Amino acid sequence: MSDAIELNLARIRERIAEACLRANRPPDAVTLVAVSKTHPAEAVAAALAAGQAVFGENRVQEAAAKFPPLRAPHPALRLHIIGALQTNKARDAVRVADVIESLDRDRLAIALRDAMLKEGRRPGLLVQVNVGEEPQKAGIAPGTAGDFLRACREEWDLPVEGLMCIPPAEGDPRPHFAALANLAARHGLGTLSMGMSADFEAAIAEGATHVRVGSAIFGHRA
Ligand SMILES: *Cc1c(COP(=O)(O)O)cnc(C)c1O
Repeated sequence: MSDAIELNLARIRERIAEACLRANRPPDAVTLVAVSKTHPAEAVAAALAAGQAVFGENRVQEAAAKFPPLRAPHPALRLHIIGALQTNKARDAVRVADVIESLDRDRLAIALRDAMLKEGRRPGLLVQVNVGEEPQKAGIAPGTAGDFLRACREEWDLPVEGLMCIPPAEGDPRPHFAALANLAARHGLGTLSMGMSADFEAAIAEGATHVRVGSAIFGHRA
């Protein structure tokens, strides 16, 4: 398993560097977030041994079980929570995460503010935007993102660093990536988390600063 993970990581890093080159961006312009959800702590350990430091998990409970023991031996480790977050999990998320990528509504913003005050910890936040305006998908509607961002910063004093999206499964993701980049630029936000195993090169072409790659590193999920 660890050989395969090391090899996959090397290939993904190479493809990221090539995509940066094609987009006229420096090779270190993009951070690889290795999405380890559903994979055991041994898989995370193998990726750490191969030099990977940034990880993504979509469930707080799973993250809280796998990651805290790895912090002391790996001080460079950074954990991103990338999945839909219930307000009653906000405090656990603030405790375990370095970045929370799935901020998408008022009640969650307020819960995170309260949790940050209680925990004395301020993970960076990304606002998830429902770029395809899909009813089944999480994320704030693009049309209300401006108002929401203003409230996050001015009313709730939250450390919002950027935007995140998951474009529709069907069709060309690139216009959606471009729209997210545009929205971030209009609001002076520097971080853009977009692109997964199937489309991270297109996302890099449109300005992604973080790509979230799971199955292409760790294999298929059960
Ligand atoms: C699972 C997941 C990913 C990784 O998807 P892959 O297709 O396995 O690379 C990225 N982002 C989010 C939000 C996810 O839930």
